[in-house]
Amino acid sequence: MNTESEKTFSCQCCGHCCHGTGTVSLSPADQESIAAFLKLKPKTFIEQYCVIKKNRTEMKIEDGHCIFYGNDGLCMIHEVKPFHCRQWPLHPSILGDQGAWEAIKSDCPGFDPDMTYSEACDLVKNSRNES
Ligand code: SF4
Ligand code: SF4
Repeated sequence: MNTESEKTFSCQCCGHCCHGTGTVSLSPADQESIAAFLKLKPKTFIEQYCVIKKNRTEMKIEDGHCIFYGNDGLCMIHEVKPFHCRQWPLHPSILGDQGAWEAIKSDCPGFDPDMTYSEACDLVKNSRNES
């Protein structure tokens, strides 16, 4: 993240985005990376840590949070966390949808409370250019 982004978004490690009734979808690359990190075969990783929802593979929820949310409030697979977790909260849905921005901002205390919609769009665009 560049210097401009750091002025306006800073993760507070509150864990809110790791809680809920579902998690993010895992791409095949995510599944391979996490399985390798855990020293498991992909099939075993999916059986132990994932749930299949129609055509989506997600991480399981336990006690109201992602199975990889640790007791210390940190992600247990931070080094290989899924693409959508690395991307969050600078989600492309913000672009062209101010309602999506307002919803994400209200759930994430990492944004500067004074950030405008235009500034949020610039942040998302910059993050996409860097990835
Ligand atoms: S909700 Fe925002 S501030 Fe909290 S952990 Fe997630 S990204 Fe960080
Ligand atoms: S993989 Fe890590 S960052 Fe992503 S939801 Fe689970 S605990 Fe949170």
